[in-house]
Amino acid sequence: MNEVLIIGSGFAGLCMAIRLRKAGIESFTILERADDIGGTWRDNQYPGCACDVQSHLYSYSFEPNAAWSRAFAEQPEILGYLRRCAQKYGLLRHIRFGQEVRNARFDERQHLWCVETAGGNAYRARIVVSGMGALSNPAYPDIDGLSDFAGAKFHSAKWDHDLELAGKRVAVIGSGASAIQFVPQIVPLVARLDLYQRTAPWILPKPDRPIGSAEQAIYGALPLTQKLMRWAFYWLLETRMLAFTEPALMRPVASYARRYLRRSVQDPALRAKLLPGYTVGCKRVLISNDYYPALTSPNVEIITEGIREIRGGSILDRGGREREVDVIIFATGFKVQELVPRGMFFGSRGRDLADAWREGPEAYKGTTVTGFPNLFLLLGPNTGLGHSSVIFMIESQVAYVMDALRQMRSNGWSALEVHADAQAAFNRELEAKSADAVWKSGCRSWYLTESGRNTTMWPDFTFRFRHLTRRFDSKAYRTEAAQTLASPGCAQQDERCGALR
Ligand SMILES: Cc1cc2nc3c(=O)[nH]c(=O)nc-3n(C[C@H](O)[C@H](O)[C@H](O)COP(=O)(O)OP(=O)(O)OC[C@H]3O[C@@H](n4cnc5c(N)ncnc54)[C@H](O)[C@@H]3O)c2cc1C
Repeated sequence: MNEVLIIGSGFAGLCMAIRLRKAGIESFTILERADDIGGTWRDNQYPGCACDVQSHLYSYSFEPNAAWSRAFAEQPEILGYLRRCAQKYGLLRHIRFGQEVRNARFDERQHLWCVETAGGNAYRARIVVSGMGALSNPAYPDIDGLSDFAGAKFHSAKWDHDLELAGKRVAVIGSGASAIQFVPQIVPLVARLDLYQRTAPWILPKPDRPIGSAEQAIYGALPLTQKLMRWAFYWLLETRMLAFTEPALMRPVASYARRYLRRSVQDPALRAKLLPGYTVGCKRVLISNDYYPALTSPNVEIITEGIREIRGGSILDRGGREREVDVIIFATGFKVQELVPRGMFFGSRGRDLADAWREGPEAYKGTTVTGFPNLFLLLGPNTGLGHSSVIFMIESQVAYVMDALRQMRSNGWSALEVHADAQAAFNRELEAKSADAVWKSGCRSWYLTESGRNTTMWPDFTFRFRHLTRRFDSKAYRTEAAQTLASPGCAQQDERCGALR
């Protein structure tokens, strides 16, 4: 039996595992549904895929990489970095690939999680740490006739590298963070590119640059210089939070973005289509130097009317115009509101986390949920960022989990469950902080639930989150030793979990 079971081997799961090993804890297993580590950076292999936070900051604080070749590294380099980390910290022998967690049930009598995989394996652990990722399940649009389309179609997170795009008529549905990265890469290849845009994103120039070997050598020889860079980027990005919480401060950013659009796109009709009609920051602010120029190419058309129907070999827009197309690429993002699928986690009294979250995902400090003892969610509700690196949030949460583990060990606790009122109070505060935030300034985005609640974004400075998670605050928790809770209903599940690893 494991002390800790980690789900997922992206930045979050690997960070948890590294911290466990650094603390000398070997009793853990990572269950990964794919056959490689890397999460986001394994799955998103579309052309031009890169991070949009400077790599000096978008990496683990304890594992600086002097060899980043660009200010904003591209996907292969980030995946390589994660692979090196997994290797260096001896994580591979702890990972079970091809193990898709189907469900996990908490045994209230023994204070253990029983985790079952799609392949029929079962694992038992005192603690489950979910690093399943908020952006790991692609979302597809619900469009009439989609299944009738006879040509090729794929999601940007599942790029079809075997498909030759050269000379094809390609439709891209969506104009968000992924589209703005791959569209400029494929425009020179394709015969025609129809970009179906529901909402124009705000775009700023990307302060990208290659990092030469001399600069890399300096970072390698004098690690303090790289630390200083990281520190400088952290504080530079952190100041942006001021504008996210006070939308009036976004006005100069909007002027700058408008100027950038004017400079990049001469055609007033095209410019009008590309000018967003909502406050900057309400949706993710994107950075790119080549997206606008790519859209001015004569083989690109931007369609803003919406899609009425997809047919065997064409797309009919809501204006009644039909365009023939060979390939459809979905740049439609991820199932963010479905942070945890229904039927995944069953906590006390067999309650499904999806039922506890009927009104939208909610947690204490983005990490623990009342009714779900010994479960920790990395990048759980309200830990997303629009202004900085989520690796900072992951590291904060992992420190919190590590302290929880330490306290469990030293106090002999076998179960921890956050009090409902602590969680409610925390979320009331989040809600109050979110009230004036820019995400609530009127646009529709994946940051908000249908009812307009912010369940995704951290509405404060990240150093405040770091402060809140620096220690495990056991007072907010019910702590217990094994065998003290009644356990209706867990006997059946023990049957299944009988032959456990
Ligand atoms: C294209 C792209 C670019 C991004 N760029 C940035 C950026 O510049 N800055 C930033 O801060 N953030 C960025 N993000 C957000 C990014 O997702 C996070 O930064 C980070 O990679 C999340 O790591 P994670 O480990 O939490 O999740 P993931 O990387 O998604 O990893 C989750 C892992 O869990 C596995 N998993 C999921 N469900 C199961 C299951 N049931 N059983 C077993 N395994 C499972 C998945 O296979 C995956 O390996 C970007 C996201 C995308 C999609």
